[in-house]
Amino acid sequence: MQSVYTCLTQAHDHQLILLAAGVCVVGVYGSFTVATHAARSEGRAARLWGGASVIASGCTAWATHMIALLAYQPGMPSGFEPTLTAFSLLMAVAGIGVSVALAIGQRNRIRRLLAGLVLGVSITTLHYLGESAYLVAGTVTWDMPLVAVSVPASILMFGAAIVVAGERRRDLRRAAAPLLVVAIGVLHFCGMAAMTLTFDPEHPLPPQAVPPEVIAPVVASVSLGLLALAVVGLRLTLNARAQARRDQERLRELANLAVEGLAVCEGEVITTANRSLELLSGLDTAELVGRSLSALLPGLTISTLPEREEREAELVGADGQRVPVRVLRSEVPLGGKRQTVLAIRDQRERLQTESRIRTLAFSDALTGLPNRAHFHDLVALHAASYREHGRAFAVLMLDLDRFKLVNDTLGHGLGDMLLRKAAERLKAALGEHDLVARLGGDEFAVLQIDVAGPEATHALASNIVELIGRPFLIDGQLVNVGASVGAALAPIDGVEPDQLLRNADLALYKAKADGKGTFRRFEPALDARMQARRGLEADLRRAITVQEFELYYQPLVDARSGRITAAEALVRWRHPERGLVSPADFIPLAEETGLIGPLGQWVLRTACAQAARWPAHIRVAVNLSPAQFRDVRLADTVKAALAASDLPASRLELEITEGVLLADEERTLATLTRLRAAGVSISMDDFGTGYSSLSYLRRFPFDKIKVDQSFIRQLPGDLESAAIVRAIITMGTCLGMAITVEGVETAEQFAFSAAEGCDQVQGYHVSRPLPLAEFLSFVDAREAA
Ligand code: C2E
Ligand code: CA
Ligand code: CA
Repeated sequence: MQSVYTCLTQAHDHQLILLAAGVCVVGVYGSFTVATHAARSEGRAARLWGGASVIASGCTAWATHMIALLAYQPGMPSGFEPTLTAFSLLMAVAGIGVSVALAIGQRNRIRRLLAGLVLGVSITTLHYLGESAYLVAGTVTWDMPLVAVSVPASILMFGAAIVVAGERRRDLRRAAAPLLVVAIGVLHFCGMAAMTLTFDPEHPLPPQAVPPEVIAPVVASVSLGLLALAVVGLRLTLNARAQARRDQERLRELANLAVEGLAVCEGEVITTANRSLELLSGLDTAELVGRSLSALLPGLTISTLPEREEREAELVGADGQRVPVRVLRSEVPLGGKRQTVLAIRDQRERLQTESRIRTLAFSDALTGLPNRAHFHDLVALHAASYREHGRAFAVLMLDLDRFKLVNDTLGHGLGDMLLRKAAERLKAALGEHDLVARLGGDEFAVLQIDVAGPEATHALASNIVELIGRPFLIDGQLVNVGASVGAALAPIDGVEPDQLLRNADLALYKAKADGKGTFRRFEPALDARMQARRGLEADLRRAITVQEFELYYQPLVDARSGRITAAEALVRWRHPERGLVSPADFIPLAEETGLIGPLGQWVLRTACAQAARWPAHIRVAVNLSPAQFRDVRLADTVKAALAASDLPASRLELEITEGVLLADEERTLATLTRLRAAGVSISMDDFGTGYSSLSYLRRFPFDKIKVDQSFIRQLPGDLESAAIVRAIITMGTCLGMAITVEGVETAEQFAFSAAEGCDQVQGYHVSRPLPLAEFLSFVDAREAA
């Protein structure tokens, strides 16, 4: 140790030692900055700068070593062996190159240790080659123990320095540079101290020795080169910093544009916040920065927050108000290091939207009542609670009679108002715990809870029918609708929710069929009837497409002359299995299902076409049902049928019943007037069965009245019927309308009708309805007679 100390303090030129240190620092700085730049670059540029960095490092080691050697004052002539000196430079560059190649980007400590050892070996080689190249006029002896200790020690220190340089922990990384300095110091000064030079005139300086005066400028120019490189490195570093600052600035601007709140954290403390976070929290950046995360988001810590996984949390704002948020943590490389960034998303709007969607999904927008889905849930809930507690309940279905008419004629706005008012009245009719829902259109449903017995449901239904039956005052207009109600009681009429709803529906159906404004409770027979009906409906639909219908004709004869003046077309369904089906069995169904439209049109066209081909003095009568009058195109349909068949309008009679006149009088009268204007005659069918027949006769000038067969059937024995028939005939004649008596089955009935002065007679006594061919033969036979 003593020799090392003496060597350092007495045998060296201190100014040159300082210069060596200075060149070392400048060279290391230059190499490092260039290496950093290489790491930031890519491809060819990265390779070029990396190579430059390796060469610069080698040069630094070499120049430092050479200046240190030049600082050595052996006290005798000295010089340098040129080949070995040059070779030592090459060794240094190559050694560092290999070491860097081994260590670059290595997380593996063994690889880094290996790289460090290679570096140590190469620097050691550089040193001892350099020393071997140092020639003096004398002899050289070595303190081998010192060499033997210092060389492995410094090589190990090189190894350790490169290992810690690649560590994650900053404090460990910091130890790398001092370790390198110590390693180089130990290597150099121990190496120098281990060498003893003894002046010996017997050993002159070899002739190839280059004197220090010659080598010094070479070393100086290499050092200057390193200085230049350091300047370049400085520039590159400054540029990179400026770029990083600009990036940071841009990033901040970008962060401020973000809708989400963003916070950069160091540990559990916020170091940066964007504008959205200021708005969200009501705190400004100055207040946010330095705040601990748990103060802003109670219960949340970075350490327990997994990366890339959103967490629900509450943000505590300026005035202590709590905002529901979602927090996402990311580790982002920012400004050259990885930083924790929290994205904080305001959830208030989303939660509001969700709750709005929930309300919308479960309630009806127009009335605010529960909707169909919600009602089904409620029924299911009560069915479940029935199984547990055995409390009876009832499901009532209702729809508004004539609602469609109101909606169509008075407009949808008024229709909506009517529905809202109806909903109000329904609510008023209910018991405290009962519920009403709107299922859609004019359909409502009621869930009656804790039902004491069928009477309770009956009472509620009657109440509803009565309340809805009262006139509504809407927009200054009186509107009359009614309600039909069907009910099913749990457990008597079913317990399963679906079954209850279906049974209540069947009961409603029955209520409507039995005349509107009524209440019906479910009964098992409804189900069977319903099924049969559904079968028939499907059948009817098919029959219309494959044309399974035909027309029969029943003659009408003049009461006095007995001549055929007209024939009534009566439709028949030739069913493949059931045979000939009577219209009484399928016309009502066709009316309900709307199938009467296409069917009626077919009857009209066929009757016109067939009548056009029979004797011109025989007219044809076609029945029109009320449902056909709901179609505003009816008059056009009739005209089209006439045009298509070339049948003169005067040969067509249309038979309508009072039912036609019941609904929407204005429109019906307009249609009748149009038909009349086209030259078609209109008959009032089944006269006498309705209740206000006379008033109809006054409102519309029919061409003909057909007295209903129920009166004729009692004749001639029943005096009252005889009186009615007589009165109708008298009245019709006075009003200028022709009279037909229907259902005449006997000669007496015929004689009575003729005697009372009716114009035409129709009935089995004359002929049953006949297929076209038979009807035509019948006509021929009659004409001949
Ligand atoms: P409606 O218009 O009153 O037709 C007269 C019905 O009385 C016919 O029954 C006919 O066969 C029957 N009838 C005729 N003379 C006698 C008689 O002396 N004694 C008895 N007991 N009955 C007699 P049908 O053909 O079964 O028709 C029943 C109802 O079906 C018709 O009554 C009519 O309302 C309707 N209908 C028939 N065809 C059509 C059609 O093409 N369109 C529409 N909308 N309805 C039709
Ligand atoms: Ca008829
Ligand atoms: Ca009739």
